[in-house]
Amino acid sequence: SEERSLNFIEEIVEEDISTGKYGGRVLTRFPPEPNGYLHIGHAKSICLNFGLALEYGGKTNLRFDDTNPVKEDVEYVDSIKEDVKWLGFEWANELYASDYFDQLYEFAVSLIKKGLAYVDDSTAEEIAAQKGTPTEPGKGNEYRNRSLEENLRLFAEMKDGKYPDGAKVLRAKIDLASPNMHMRDPLMYRIKHAHHHRTGDKWCIYPMYDFAHGESDAIEEITHSICTLEFIPHRPLYDWFIEKLDIFPSKQYEFARLNLNYTVMSKRKLLQLVEEKHVDGWDDPRMPTISGLRRRGYTPASIRDFCERIGVAKRENMIEMALLESCIREDLNKTAWRRMAVLDPIKLIITDYPEGKTETFVGENNPEAEDGEGTRELPFSRELWIEREDFMEEPPKKFFRLAVGNMVRLKSAYIVKCEGFTKDADGNVTEVHCTHVPNSLSGNDTSGINVKGTIHWVSVPHAKTAEVRLYDRLFRVEDPSNEDGDFKEYINPNSLQILPNAYIEPDLATAIPGKGYQFIRKGYFTLDKFSTPEKLIFNRTVTLKDGWVK
Ligand code: ATP
Ligand code: MG
Ligand code: MG
Repeated sequence: SEERSLNFIEEIVEEDISTGKYGGRVLTRFPPEPNGYLHIGHAKSICLNFGLALEYGGKTNLRFDDTNPVKEDVEYVDSIKEDVKWLGFEWANELYASDYFDQLYEFAVSLIKKGLAYVDDSTAEEIAAQKGTPTEPGKGNEYRNRSLEENLRLFAEMKDGKYPDGAKVLRAKIDLASPNMHMRDPLMYRIKHAHHHRTGDKWCIYPMYDFAHGESDAIEEITHSICTLEFIPHRPLYDWFIEKLDIFPSKQYEFARLNLNYTVMSKRKLLQLVEEKHVDGWDDPRMPTISGLRRRGYTPASIRDFCERIGVAKRENMIEMALLESCIREDLNKTAWRRMAVLDPIKLIITDYPEGKTETFVGENNPEAEDGEGTRELPFSRELWIEREDFMEEPPKKFFRLAVGNMVRLKSAYIVKCEGFTKDADGNVTEVHCTHVPNSLSGNDTSGINVKGTIHWVSVPHAKTAEVRLYDRLFRVEDPSNEDGDFKEYINPNSLQILPNAYIEPDLATAIPGKGYQFIRKGYFTLDKFSTPEKLIFNRTVTLKDGWVK
């Protein structure tokens, strides 16, 4: 790959290696909460964390941040593992924050013993009110001065299930006047009588993110704990817990999350789209999820390339969907096999070509590859399907496709001349009539005729049918989360167009799942996961050119 300058995290890692901090070791982690499917924003974090380890001879843990039992599920765990693997990365260890619940409990007890944590009986509202505002210090309450013994007993009783949800919390005793609101005696544990997908009913108290995350990092001896910018104000708390517990000194670094236009990227919002059936599941090809992009026909290489191109910065910005599209276009241009498919068909009849005759032409699979990656056969006959838009009854100037009197080349076959057409009672063109130039065959053209247009076609008796799905952006506006009202009001009602009866060249009947095909002049396509030999379904991954109209 091209030389580029180091990003700020690479600079930190190189500095740490050169000073021998952590003994030159690099251990990162990717810490998804299993409460949804991964999206393209997660891909950025995955590429960053796994990429650093690969670059500096380190390792990366996959850690499920499963401290919130209510929203989590094994379905999500499985999908996350599949997606990380598919992107091309291997984790050193598959770990779960819930496996640390005993250790985290012990950490909490040791903080109580140091006088650095207390049980508070206040309600969530009371705690919020007592916290003050950023310009006004918070107030203590009577619980803050509980004795060590009382705190130890109450915390044990919380764990033993003596209290209902919300009756008590464990708080760190830090500084109610801190200008950083996160340091004003933050919550460490809450009571939640809920079944956990891994620990079952063993626990009815669960640690808060701020207490669990840094401590999990320290338990694993993570060297560089990378997260998104909104965690900057949490960093003093991250460091405080590690210092007071005197455990492995993991360090947190923050980078700007990926924002992509014309979509949403919060799992909560993506879940709404799924549950309210605005899309056909987490892997709907319009979703910004890894599984949606895969089903749409994106390749792992194109997503990694995208993450490399957007880089790692300290300031948030909005990335254009067009950049993601140009990455897949570039990749598929190199790898996709060329095929012909007619999406909106009308019939072309070559009136001077014998009925019943078939010729078989040959087309290269991939003209971009040095060896062409083999060929496929293209049967040709008197009746062909062509695109409706490739014929015009009254063409404008410089229309180089079919109109009465015009000549075009049929891709990989003959030059034809349009002689006439027929219409039905409603005025729709039903057939285009042409004659052909017999000595104009592609690769063996002695006709001396130069034509400006080449069109694709499929032989009527040899064509197979397929359903073709064309996609547009899921939202009508660039930043639906930043508009007035509900983001779902901005869903694009025309984001999916289904063409139930496209004609495809016969070779596409054996299209390979997961492979990209360029339908000449129409874009890049791949088989949908629900495609069967009886009912072929193709998804358009992306058009051939950036055709979005702003
Ligand atoms: P969401 O807001 O979508 O629910 P999250 O941050 O809560 O995302 P996690 O499962 O906790 O989701 O994320 C796992 C990792 O991925 C975290 O380290 C998080 O910082 C990172 N991540 C999540 N969204 C993005 C994004 N848009 N860009 C870059 N990194 C992200
Ligand atoms: Mg999170
Ligand atoms: Mg979240």
